[in-house]
Amino acid sequence: MDSKNLDKLVIVSAPSGSGKTTIVNHLLKTFEQLGFSLSYTNREIRKGEVDGVNYRFISTQEFKKLIADDMFLEWEEVYKNTFYGTPLSEISRLQEAGKVPILDIDVVGGSNVKKMFGDKALAVFIKTPSIEVLEQRLRNRKTETEESIIKRVNKVSLELEYEKYFDVTIINDVLGDALSEAERIIKQFLNE
Ligand code: 5GP
Repeated sequence: MDSKNLDKLVIVSAPSGSGKTTIVNHLLKTFEQLGFSLSYTNREIRKGEVDGVNYRFISTQEFKKLIADDMFLEWEEVYKNTFYGTPLSEISRLQEAGKVPILDIDVVGGSNVKKMFGDKALAVFIKTPSIEVLEQRLRNRKTETEESIIKRVNKVSLELEYEKYFDVTIINDVLGDALSEAERIIKQFLNE
């Protein structure tokens, strides 16, 4: 890797349903320097997800053991009884492989990691033009139960308050435009 990219990392955070995962996957395809930071979670595996690809799916007990053993760079109880965490070992594994880690994490975790890494981190916040658009997208996605949709929509106003801790915001209105904007921002950061 270019020495200028040593110790850098990219954080992408957004309220659920903002198109964050699509944008992160596009960036991973576009920039071979980036490496996906695989998180642990105790949530149920969704249809189409693969253990070890999307997340490492573990039990609540195993998650709590990892917390007690100080294995996380950061972790959050993003929804009640649903934990997600970035293992410290992921960051070192990626950096040793010459990659710039890209973290797809919630807005609280994202702002905390930004505070830890300062200028070495580029923190990108993604949002939809309105909460109504976001709710519609969650419904169209058809991966969530009604209960999960309500839980996620209820959290959005609080999540939007974290935008100020991020370096840049991308408004995901037309997906193609959001992808180009994300590419432009990452290219600039990797070349700095
Ligand atoms: P989902 O259940 O939709 O996969 O993820 C819910 C939220 O948890 C998303 O905002 C996702 O980015 C976030 N998340 C995933 N991994 C982590 C992590 O390691 N740490 C934190 N703080 N949030 C995470």
